[in-house]
Amino acid sequence: MSETEAYDVIIVGVGPAGLAGGLYAARDRYKTLMLEKNGLPGGQIMLTEDVENYPGYQKIGGFDLIERMKAQVLRFGAEIAVNRAVTSLKRRDDGLLELEINAGERSHVARAVILSPGSDYRVLGVPGEQQMRQATRVSYCATCDGAFYRDKHVLTVGGGNTAVQDTIYLAERFVRKATMIHRRREFRAQMVLVEELHNVAADKGIDIKLPYVLEEIVPNADGAEIDHVRIRNVETDAAEQVKVDGVFVFAGMTPNTAWLRGVVEMDEAGYIVADPLTMRTSMPGVFVAGDCRRQAAMQLVTACADGVVAAMMLREYFRDPSTWTSAGVGEVA
Ligand SMILES: Cc1cc2nc3c(=O)[nH]c(=O)nc-3n(C[C@H](O)[C@H](O)[C@H](O)COP(=O)(O)OP(=O)(O)OC[C@H]3O[C@@H](n4cnc5c(N)ncnc54)[C@H](O)[C@@H]3O)c2cc1C
Repeated sequence: MSETEAYDVIIVGVGPAGLAGGLYAARDRYKTLMLEKNGLPGGQIMLTEDVENYPGYQKIGGFDLIERMKAQVLRFGAEIAVNRAVTSLKRRDDGLLELEINAGERSHVARAVILSPGSDYRVLGVPGEQQMRQATRVSYCATCDGAFYRDKHVLTVGGGNTAVQDTIYLAERFVRKATMIHRRREFRAQMVLVEELHNVAADKGIDIKLPYVLEEIVPNADGAEIDHVRIRNVETDAAEQVKVDGVFVFAGMTPNTAWLRGVVEMDEAGYIVADPLTMRTSMPGVFVAGDCRRQAAMQLVTACADGVVAAMMLREYFRDPSTWTSAGVGEVA
């Protein structure tokens, strides 16, 4: 296809949000192109072996789930192109949206765009983290993986609201013990949450250690489990070894939206602001879906739901593009 031949819709990022949006767009017979920067489409869920909270499946591997989603989308005629990082987006005078690929390697044009580039968990970068993440013993999401740690001992790392809330959640529902570390003496979380943490800690088996950092996650001999973690008190420099079954890192997320700064409205952290009822962004013809959206629930099913809503809104937009309104953008859902 030459760059003058426009697609009806181009979807940026082929994770669950993009795939769900692509399914609905392709079934509506829109000429749909899906662009993925990696060699393998699928997004974050490809990293996990067991998904237990996607409706309709007792348990399914992330890879299998994505394979099914991909096959379904392709069956309805959507195109998926890999190794195509979208590096800029602009609205042309003729109203079409132009996407630059791999910093100028080529470009594509479309009547509408759904942005679904996701967000990445911030990693600590300590030795053993990557290896044990692949072995599914390091997690970044308590809702996703808490249930795999029933009656186990986990280390939780972080000091913000999510770290405090999710440590309480893990301790109340699943784990036998949680050792929680934070690099400062004070938590960053809201005081009401910190008070709750201290109130429930003794009862729920939470051992709070401040100010500590995680220095290493040491695998066992066959590399399948964690043998122990090494933590260090940053004031005394004393190191300790703790035997744990899993590590939860709560260091926040970074949306993959740096290339969209100044193009669509975002919050300070880089999440794309949208009308939560229609997924419309501040730029006419541009929708958003999934974990890169402000106030996203950061779950598979909600990412898919966003993609579906965005795709269903295409018809309305194509019927009369002049009706585009960003009313609701910036409002809290
Ligand atoms: C280890 C792990 C376990 C999880 N377990 C669960 C679970 O059990 N249940 C659950 O509900 N959720 C789980 N989640 C969360 C779930 O994976 C996410 O909520 C979901 O994947 C978000 O989908 P998304 O499509 O918005 O983004 P992503 O899955 O992040 O997909 C975005 C895609 O866009 C691509 N991309 C980014 N930038 C560009 C660009 N500029 N150009 C082209 N492509 C781009 C990325 O490479 C990626 O493929 C888990 C997450 C992780 C990491």
